[in-house]
Amino acid sequence: MVNKVLDMMDDILSKLFNLNRILINKNKESESKILVALSGGIDSTVLLYLCKEIFDDVYAISFNYGQKHNVELKYAKEIAKMANVKEHIIVDIPHYALLNQSPLLAHGSEVPEGIVMVDNVPAVNVPMRNLAFLSIMGSIADEYGINFLAIGVHATDNPFPDCRPEFITAMEAAINSASAYVQKTKNRIHIFAPFLGLSKIEVAKLGKELNVPFEKTYSCYAGTEPPCGKCATCIQREEALKAIGYHQ
Ligand SMILES: [Zn+2]
Repeated sequence: MVNKVLDMMDDILSKLFNLNRILINKNKESESKILVALSGGIDSTVLLYLCKEIFDDVYAISFNYGQKHNVELKYAKEIAKMANVKEHIIVDIPHYALLNQSPLLAHGSEVPEGIVMVDNVPAVNVPMRNLAFLSIMGSIADEYGINFLAIGVHATDNPFPDCRPEFITAMEAAINSASAYVQKTKNRIHIFAPFLGLSKIEVAKLGKELNVPFEKTYSCYAGTEPPCGKCATCIQREEALKAIGYHQ
């Protein structure tokens, strides 16, 4: 039974790789440049390593948005260096300091233990965070002439409203309609979100294939070193790494 599941996952991953290749070949006439949103966690690091396999020039971007766990930026910097990205951009987003409902933010309440939902939305949701991230990434793509923006949202993230396929599709349309680069060159800016149909465990499995240095990744919402082991992301991280036989 286990072998059957693993075969199925291999099939999913090989389809994903093939799809990526087709997508890139189609755009080979323009240089393949990609800007990857890198938090320093498992998902974005696997994405960065995947992009290194596919794209010519890989840029990374990380955000300091007033998160309690801004220690993640230290890990993101190290990973970007190890992956030898063309440039690692770090951007401050100040307006989240005005908001305090999310426990992830510096002025928010304590980070809950386990996976806690409030009206079907995770308690740790940060309002429209991916919208803020992708709009900034769109501005940089416009300036740098970058055709692809990468974000590591996956199916396990589905309870977060701005991690869903419909948001990614709408955001891509908004970026293209707002872009002077697109207007001038007639190229399109694509949002590359290859994990949308994969679970976090499948993302971790892909990371294993890509030799991702999981020991260099970090995602604890509490921002402690070592990680708290009790928050939602610590639990999901442990589950994913355990499933692929990786011991932290
Ligand atoms: Zn934690």
